[in-house]
Amino acid sequence: VSWVPGTDPPPTPLPSSSSRCPTGGDSALSQEALETLAEEAGFSGSEGRSLAFTRAASVLKALPGQLSALEEGQALGSGLSLSLGQDVLEDGVSVEVERVKLSERYRTMKLFTKIFGVGVRTASRWYQEGIRTLVDLQERNTKLTRQQQAGLQHYEDLNTPVERGEAESIGRMVQEAVQRFLPGASVTLAGGFRRGKPRGHDVDLLLTHPEAGREAGLLSAVCLSPHQGLILYQHSQENSFALHEGPEPPGGRDVLDRFERCFSIFRLEVQGRPGAARGWKAVRVDLVVAPVGQFPFALLGWTGSRHFERELRRFAGHERKMVLNSHTLYDTRLNLFLPAASEEEIFQHLGLEYVPPTQRNA
Ligand code: ATP
Ligand code: MN
Ligand code: MN
Repeated sequence: VSWVPGTDPPPTPLPSSSSRCPTGGDSALSQEALETLAEEAGFSGSEGRSLAFTRAASVLKALPGQLSALEEGQALGSGLSLSLGQDVLEDGVSVEVERVKLSERYRTMKLFTKIFGVGVRTASRWYQEGIRTLVDLQERNTKLTRQQQAGLQHYEDLNTPVERGEAESIGRMVQEAVQRFLPGASVTLAGGFRRGKPRGHDVDLLLTHPEAGREAGLLSAVCLSPHQGLILYQHSQENSFALHEGPEPPGGRDVLDRFERCFSIFRLEVQGRPGAARGWKAVRVDLVVAPVGQFPFALLGWTGSRHFERELRRFAGHERKMVLNSHTLYDTRLNLFLPAASEEEIFQHLGLEYVPPTQRNA
């Protein structure tokens, strides 16, 4: 079975090219428009609608040309029409998207949720308290967590994309620290960069060691001791995963894993940054330590995209009665864990053709 999430054939045949809206005019749906609507739905706490828009955006990515909104609505399925409302489909989605983009609530929510450590709930509370700007936040002495303080302090840097070259130099820095502490340990660049993206919002690094058990405590080598000056913020968490607990119920906490990990902000030396007063930049780095037996699952889980992972896990549950997470794959019909030495083997267990990282951007 060849499968890429979000690209299942549309339920109705696609209109022929002659019926496409040639200008991509007022009523046409664009991927960007749908992503804005997904974001807005998320800000309003409507997870279901948000997911419908995200799915539609992903389907649209795979469609050949721009279609009129009604045609798209049909092609994308009734879920989307329900989420949009028939009137919006007819009046033109771009009108709705413009309205959203200009609304004070959307703009403020976007500003706040771009602070590291601030989610929809916190942003929404601040909005209700009448806070509108980052200056407001500081002047009103709003209570901030240590993470949010760091996020606010480095707001600009953390909202400047990380370039691939920067990600690679951080990877090398971590590799050196890890090697000194535990020879043989490896560092793998995961996340969007592994999917071939040229830039990203953070650097995701996966650490392991070929002998099971040796990896324990590896993070302290990077996050605590020798690099203090290089780490502007770090929040570490110990491994809390135990196999004997059995699999998490599907749809439960399966998005979060329990690896030893460190969410951090690194201070990266950068030379010749145009217009920069200082020679460094704050960069978000996620470090995750996986025992070698769970490494392929961790790699698959931390390569993303989020949407790909969500759809793959859903496929595993619905189509195969298996529970997939970043630690294991569990077959609920056979009542056993299916081990894997590579990502390829995980796809084999799922009865799917291998999907290389560069095709997981859906
Ligand atoms: P970007 O360029 O914006 O960083 P990305 O795809 O790398 O894009 P991330 O947020 O860094 O996005 O996440 C990468 C992958 O890691 C996601 O697909 C997600 O499945 C996984 N992931 C991220 N955060 C967690 C977490 N707290 N627990 C478990 N998995 C996570
Ligand atoms: Mn990332
Ligand atoms: Mn990340």
